[in-house]
Parts: sequence; structure tokens; C-alpha cells
Amino acid sequence: MFGGMVSVAWGNRRLTRPNRLAMVDARTQLQVLLDALRARTAVLTRRDDLPSAARREVDAVVMEHVFIDATLARAATADEVDGLRPQLHACLVTLEHAAESVGLNLPATQPFAGLCSIDPQHGAATSSPDGDGLCRACIAAIGTDVELPVRMVAKDGRAVPFDEIDLSSPSHDHSPFDGEGDR
Ligand SMILES: [Zn+2]
Repeated sequence: MFGGMVSVAWGNRRLTRPNRLAMVDARTQLQVLLDALRARTAVLTRRDDLPSAARREVDAVVMEHVFIDATLARAATADEVDGLRPQLHACLVTLEHAAESVGLNLPATQPFAGLCSIDPQHGAATSSPDGDGLCRACIAAIGTDVELPVRMVAKDGRAVPFDEIDLSSPSHDHSPFDGEGDR
């Protein structure tokens, strides 16, 4: 899976090698944040006790997610990809606010909190027997032959577990996540 992402991100031959590496860093990192945003959105849309004002906030995030996703697909440089982080963070802030209305804590500064620790794309975590936050499918896979590979992203050109993303200094200089939270 990681190899696939790399070959897609490396498809642009006009980029020089350091720029290609920066692009892979930026794309794989933004994608996992986008997947976490989508998973949180799904958690909230499933709540039937969501007040209508909060539901409108969640709907707005769904629209914004589509926009960010489309812009990511067209982005040609790492800076363009990183430039989407403030929008993504704003979506997380909106979801945090919507979640408060039903007593749910979804801190924008910890975009992976409450989601599966194998891959946030799996969705909401319940607690596994040894205390890790895992989704139901991952918990069901414990003790079977099914492997649970942790989602990887690129950082400084190397593959690292997704939760090693440094939110205080994203793949490049500018950060919307200034120093708060560590994942
Ligand atoms: Zn999972």
C-alpha cells in the first residue's frame, strides 16, 4: 500500500528528487489527516441526537472535505499540499464544536484521538483487551492470522507510523497546528 502511494506521488517527472521526496511526505501526511477528518465526520453523521445547528456544521465539513480532496488531487508541489492544512484544521475545529453539542470530545489539535490506532481511516475506536484504541474489525482480528499493519506515512523520505506526524511542523515550514497536542 505504501509502495503504491509512493509511485503515484512520484509520477510527476518534472519534480527534482528532493522535491519529489517532499511531495511524498506532504501527500501521505495530508491524506491520513484527511482520512481522520472523514472518519470523525462519519462518527458525527451517525448520531441521531445531533442538534440541527451541529448537523449543518458537519454538512459544511463534508462539502469542504470534497474540496480539499479535489485540490489535493491537482496539487503539483509539496507547498500546495501543505497549503491545505489550515483548511483541514478549520474543519477539525468545526467538528470539535459540533461534537461538543452531544458531549463528545474530538479535539482538533489531536486529529487521531478516538480513532483506530492501526489506521484512523478504520473509524471510531473502542477499547481492545490490552487497552489500545482499536476499531471493531481490528479487535476481531486479534488472535487470528489476519495481520494488522499500522498505517504508514512518509517523513523525511522514510516510512513511519502515521502517528509520528509532527503536527507542530508539518512536512514544511508553515503550521496551522502550532505546538498544541502531539499527534
Ligand atoms: Zn482498525
